[in-house]
Amino acid sequence: MARYRDAVCRLCRREGGKLFLKGDRCYKPSCAIEKRGTNPPGQHGAARRKMVQGYGEQLREKQKVKRIYFVLEKQFRNYFEKARRQKGVTGENLLFMLERRLDNVVYRSGFSTSRRQARQLVNHGHITVNGRKVNIPSFQVKAGDVVTVKDKSQKNPHVEGAWQTAVGRGRPSWLSAGAVDYSVAVSGTPRREDVDANINEQLIVELYSK
Ligand code: SF4
Repeated sequence: MARYRDAVCRLCRREGGKLFLKGDRCYKPSCAIEKRGTNPPGQHGAARRKMVQGYGEQLREKQKVKRIYFVLEKQFRNYFEKARRQKGVTGENLLFMLERRLDNVVYRSGFSTSRRQARQLVNHGHITVNGRKVNIPSFQVKAGDVVTVKDKSQKNPHVEGAWQTAVGRGRPSWLSAGAVDYSVAVSGTPRREDVDANINEQLIVELYSK
């Protein structure tokens, strides 16, 4: 499957703000946004920074959300089409599907410090859902599921470190602590306030509705 391989801090600079793609480093002074500011990357980045409106603004918002969740264009478009066919508000449906991806749940649960690391944990078979190994990052969790790090993988220093720091980060209301360590129960469905407030999903709906 195609995947993004370039430096991820460039993505934050392109979108003009922190997307929190690198885990702990995003909270340190070594963050590229802290060190270099919000100008777009490249030699003439500062000159390219201009106010975007209309189509440009919609496009940037879509790119930002794709980058936050590490989803490529085709899959993102598929999510949108599914969201449009569901009952309710299309933009919110889209965000809720992205939130219910297994890699996002692993990150939100505190098993990893970033979604990128979470995807690797899932891909490498460290995660189980209801006791069965699931290595598909796009797997959609549902209420009642229990997501757990495999016993052997709990000794992984990345997982241990993330689990310790996750206490301070907190969990969204639809995920609650499981019966054992390194496990989380999906107790409901995401609500809009559980998703990044800096996202304007209506702009994405307008872009794809043209
Ligand atoms: Fe973005 Fe994190 Fe890199 Fe900072 S450290 S630019 S927030 S990915």
